[in-house]
Amino acid sequence: MTGLRGTELSLVSLQRLHAVVLFGSPGSGKGTQAKRLTQALGIPHISTGDMLRDRIRSGTEKVSAVVANMQSGALVADDVMNAIVQKRLSEADAARGFILDGYPRTLEQAEHLGMWLQRKRISEVVIHLAVDYNVIIARLTGRRVCPLCGTLYNTVSQPAKVDGLCDRDGGKLLMRDDDRESVIRERLEAYEKQTRPVLEYFKASGHRVEEVDASQAPPDYVFKEIFQLIEPDDRPGIHG
Ligand SMILES: [Zn+2]
Repeated sequence: MTGLRGTELSLVSLQRLHAVVLFGSPGSGKGTQAKRLTQALGIPHISTGDMLRDRIRSGTEKVSAVVANMQSGALVADDVMNAIVQKRLSEADAARGFILDGYPRTLEQAEHLGMWLQRKRISEVVIHLAVDYNVIIARLTGRRVCPLCGTLYNTVSQPAKVDGLCDRDGGKLLMRDDDRESVIRERLEAYEKQTRPVLEYFKASGHRVEEVDASQAPPDYVFKEIFQLIEPDDRPGIHG
């Protein structure tokens, strides 16, 4: 038998390929879930944010003020992002699957990925870790930090013994600017505006899109729900 290249061969012989495209709003715990999925399924977590940071650090991309600012990938041209991701997904460790995080961010990227997956006959599952925005706002605006020792508190879930004062050193607890309601609302709205059309594209073009409510439940519970969607017959491995 000739003519089968490595990647084709591995795709043909695969019993199960876990291709997960992960979306998660701010405060959804996406990073935690991606890490756990990676451990449980033994497939790489491909975060375009991390990849871009690595490339900038290693000098693969020319460092300019713009490049240094584009950590999230927001300012990288679609065709550049598409090429970077496609190359990464074709690497050997992704042959059994991958968790894609931070991509696609635009409709054009989504179409590119959709067509690529189809060409490779990879049926992926798009998972959206959705949150109730009011719950997230309550949680994030409750965060407090001690300016003296850096200990984190939460007025709702992890309050200080004496309201407003650090348990350790009595420092006066502060709210960070990032945790102010207006800032959080802006981030949530930006996320919504960017992500909604991409999710709609996947739904409309017949891809499998699953919503998981990640706002109330503890991370363990959310993980089990995600795992069931990816691997309905299996129990999650006992990791972490
Ligand atoms: Zn303190």
